[in-house]
Amino acid sequence: MSRSIPCPKCGSLTTNISIEKALYIGHPPDQIFACYKCGKRVYGADAVNALVAADKTRLEQLQRAKEAEAAAKAAAAALEAQKKCAWAPCPNDHTPTSKYCSRTCSDRNAHAREKARKASRSTAPRSPTGAAPCPS
Ligand SMILES: [Zn+2]
Ligand SMILES: [Zn+2]
Repeated sequence: MSRSIPCPKCGSLTTNISIEKALYIGHPPDQIFACYKCGKRVYGADAVNALVAADKTRLEQLQRAKEAEAAAKAAAAALEAQKKCAWAPCPNDHTPTSKYCSRTCSDRNAHAREKARKASRSTAPRSPTGAAPCPS
């Protein structure tokens, strides 16, 4: 057992499920759930399996709730990002008519883009063949 099943009575995780040896050949081994805190015991493989299944469902629901919360947070963040000025370093929201908050940001972004374009052009290889001048 890698994980303890919480006690259905007190919620404690100091519990144990022990497998009793088969009483006779052909008899399935029995299971006993025991809580060390409150002393609750559940006898029988069926009852113990039901406890395990109920705990699994509980954990899955917890996981689903967590995922839903994360998705809602991501959606809110995306919505928040959409409101931002398109000039990345600017902390302002953009105006309803533009993707920038101001003319300044629009200019800055245009300059940055122009600069990036020039930089990528200057580092690009001129010609794969060496661009020999055409003999006349
Ligand atoms: Zn208990
Ligand atoms: Zn801005």
